[in-house]
Amino acid sequence: MSSVMLNSSIDLTIPEWLQKCLTESPADDRRQSEIALIRHAFEFAYQLHQGQYRKSGEAYICHPMAVAGLLRDFGGSAAMIAAGFLHDVVEDTDVTCDEIEYHFGAEVRRLVEGVTKLSKLDFKSKTENQAENFRRMFLAMAQDIRVIVVKLADRLHNMRTLQHLREEKRRRIALETREIFAPLANRLGMWRVKSELEDLAFKYLEPDAYEQVLQYVAQKQANRQQRLSKSTEIVLTRLQQAGIQCLEVSGRSKHLYSIYQKMLLPHKEFHEIYDLAGLRIIVRTHEECYRALAVVHDIFRPIPGHFRDYIGLPKPNGYQSLHTAVVSSTGKLLEVQIRTLEMDYLADYGITAFWRLVHSLDTNRLHQQKLNEFAWLNELVACNEEIRDASEYMQSIKNDLTMEEVYVFTPKGDLISLPTKSTPVDFAYKIHTNLGNRLAKVKINGEDANEITMLTTGDTVEIQTDSNAEPKLGWVKAVATNKAKNAIRRWHKNKYASESKSKLLNSYIVPVVNLSFVCVDRIGILKDVIEKFYRYQINVQGVHVETNTNGIAKINLCIETNDAEKLNECVKEISRISDILDFRVVEL
Ligand code: MN
Repeated sequence: MSSVMLNSSIDLTIPEWLQKCLTESPADDRRQSEIALIRHAFEFAYQLHQGQYRKSGEAYICHPMAVAGLLRDFGGSAAMIAAGFLHDVVEDTDVTCDEIEYHFGAEVRRLVEGVTKLSKLDFKSKTENQAENFRRMFLAMAQDIRVIVVKLADRLHNMRTLQHLREEKRRRIALETREIFAPLANRLGMWRVKSELEDLAFKYLEPDAYEQVLQYVAQKQANRQQRLSKSTEIVLTRLQQAGIQCLEVSGRSKHLYSIYQKMLLPHKEFHEIYDLAGLRIIVRTHEECYRALAVVHDIFRPIPGHFRDYIGLPKPNGYQSLHTAVVSSTGKLLEVQIRTLEMDYLADYGITAFWRLVHSLDTNRLHQQKLNEFAWLNELVACNEEIRDASEYMQSIKNDLTMEEVYVFTPKGDLISLPTKSTPVDFAYKIHTNLGNRLAKVKINGEDANEITMLTTGDTVEIQTDSNAEPKLGWVKAVATNKAKNAIRRWHKNKYASESKSKLLNSYIVPVVNLSFVCVDRIGILKDVIEKFYRYQINVQGVHVETNTNGIAKINLCIETNDAEKLNECVKEISRISDILDFRVVEL
């Protein structure tokens, strides 16, 4: 083990945990080798980054050191902490991935390599490249979710030190954080990281509003604390009387960005939002959660429509808790969350809580649960492979990351989660593509229903099929999931392709050609088509659009060109727009 050779000319504060790592020599063999790995990684990174500085003027090593520290806080393994130290080494120095593997083993290499690939992505490039970047990111995630956790730690520290960058760069990074990284953290259940990322993005994207919210919250702080402590006292006493052992009752404040989002909702009074107070009750068992809820509802009047049972129906990211809202003794709204200690860890740290809890809890059960919960990730990757248009891809990622869920049941009682505004068509495609393609009749809660009725949590959905049934094109506009949208489009594309195979793209011998595109009727489709002609510098002499009620439109164009090859290229590109279903040359 090499000794630490810190260059004394650099002013470097080593955090306590690392200090301990550098000096500790535990008797336990496993612990010993973990510490050796972390120590080695730190020294290696320290020497390599020597002479490099961040925009803030600090020695560069401060950044990997902070990232490693965050990963340690998340409960990451020694390999992850080592990867935190080394995450910028391949990118910023001459070291190769092979060398990382030679020094630190295959696991650390995989993590560093994964993060390096992600960092190489040029996020500032135009939408098309960006889409490719995210596609790669999701593929990396599907392979090893820890790569994303390292990336999130990296992003969190970069956001914390964002003030040192130029305005334009700050905005870009903040926006990307809000649109992609915060939702990702949310999807991984890492609530703390998610809210900090959101608050920091808020600070740089809407600085005035941020200051305003900050001030209001500070003003109301004392008052809110007082009210909370009163309610806390009452609740504690009554829980004790009921024989429920309460591990913790704590008041909490909402994070700034969520307050701001509430401000933007119509018909919300300022004081309604700023006065929001929340109480969190931690008990030992599931059963005690429900008993504590009964106690709370007995003390304070519950407000209808606010009760949520996320213990019985966990959120897709694994979040569990009981939520309710009551009128507190001072007559104000009080939000109450009730959960076990285990649920509380999971709520704050998400997937990484799972690593934290590994030593103390029934890990097998948790592990299985986690694996099931991340099925959405594979779906996201699979689904997005089918979308060719870049901006559409970006939109679909954003939708998939931020969607809220409804929970419905199959006739056999299996629980299926879907984004809000989902329809029986989404339900069918979620179960199987052919179930959607052959959907003939729908029953919701035993009664006949329309295929595009919006589903609500608790519905039981039954799909009846017919081998002659065909998915309707109009559904494309009504469904909520990309899986259903893409499957319906694909079905129609295939149908048209087989019907009209040979008639396409003979060489054009006349300078004037009439073309006709069949497409999904949506706003902007005409612009998308015309734009391609414009880009190919092909003259469009006339346009005529026909629409009908089933959601299909026909765009007829009169084109003038002598360059058949160029026209072919252009038409090929238009056919790749996913809402374009068919194209034909109209005989004169
Ligand atoms: Mn970094």
